[in-house]
Amino acid sequence: MSGPYDVRLLSLVVPCYNESESIGKFFDCVMPILETIDRIRFEIVLVNDGSTDDTLDQLLAYSRKDERVRVVDLTRNFGKEAALTAGLDEALGDAVIPIDVDLQDPPSLIPELVARWRAGAEVVLAQRSRRACDSWLKRVTAASYYRIHNRLSDLKLPVNVGDFRLMDRVVINALKQLPERHRFMKGLFAWVGYKTAIVRYEREPRTAGRSKFSGWRLWNLALEGITSFSTLPLRSWTYIGLLIAFGAFCYGAFIVGRTLIFGVDVPGYASLLSIVLFLGGIQLIGLGVVGEYIGRIYDEAKGRPIYLVRRRYQESGQDRQLATGRRVIRLERGAGNGR
Ligand code: UDP
Ligand code: MG
Repeated sequence: MSGPYDVRLLSLVVPCYNESESIGKFFDCVMPILETIDRIRFEIVLVNDGSTDDTLDQLLAYSRKDERVRVVDLTRNFGKEAALTAGLDEALGDAVIPIDVDLQDPPSLIPELVARWRAGAEVVLAQRSRRACDSWLKRVTAASYYRIHNRLSDLKLPVNVGDFRLMDRVVINALKQLPERHRFMKGLFAWVGYKTAIVRYEREPRTAGRSKFSGWRLWNLALEGITSFSTLPLRSWTYIGLLIAFGAFCYGAFIVGRTLIFGVDVPGYASLLSIVLFLGGIQLIGLGVVGEYIGRIYDEAKGRPIYLVRRRYQESGQDRQLATGRRVIRLERGAGNGR
């Protein structure tokens, strides 16, 4: 067991996709902060998520200068969730913090996260108290998304919490046991549970570069979240179908009654057409929802890996396979990492 005064290893996991403008600022900001935290050694795991600019070169330059900086180069752009998964798999720390490279997750909060972890929390969430930097539209859609998600799903997502958080080694090990390929990280993080503390902060605007999440990508992320953690959209079609069938039955009874009393009347082309189209539309929506789930089952069934690593770079520019690197670090850390 490690006592409260042992030196512990902290891993920062940083997914990077076309971030050449942000990387320098990130290191300038984060290094001094990490250096000053008491009884902490740290490593920075940079995941290059198939960047097409000179991001990789810049990352390598930093890892060459500092052996605590490692780079994992993925074979193409797999998306933030996959890049994050790769980073969490590679991280060796007793605690791990995923953090964005654009400084929207303030590194100045890290000492506080570590303090709460030392005080016994296994997960320390960083919650945005204000999203002033986001557009009105993004704030409103985000708020309604959390509401809809939490209504539909048994799993309640903490509101306004991103991927920025501290997780103990036990939590990371639990996450590694979740085999799904569709990785809605926020949901997975919440799903594993554990003793949680919350720290608040204000989200800053991006320091440089542009957000990689367009409206369409966010929409897909939202769908991912709901389909990963709720089958209610699937099941609701039974009830929608029942409701429509019941309505149709009542209307049928009404028509039979009316025909018996008043005789046959022929007109009704417009109402017939609109009802047929309406039902056709409803059926297609139902089919689409079923399709969303089947598509995901199909992806899971194929069982492809979540990401592919082209190469791992570490230890002052001498690239080695991480397998050996891992052993070196383990020996160095000795027996003091029981958690
Ligand atoms: N990112 C990534 N792969 C992607 C998209 C984004 O690794 O396909 C990284 C990106 O480099 C950044 C983080 O994920 O470090 C958050 O991205 P961004 O700032 O664009 O998202 P936002 O803050 O707008 O939600
Ligand atoms: Mg950002």
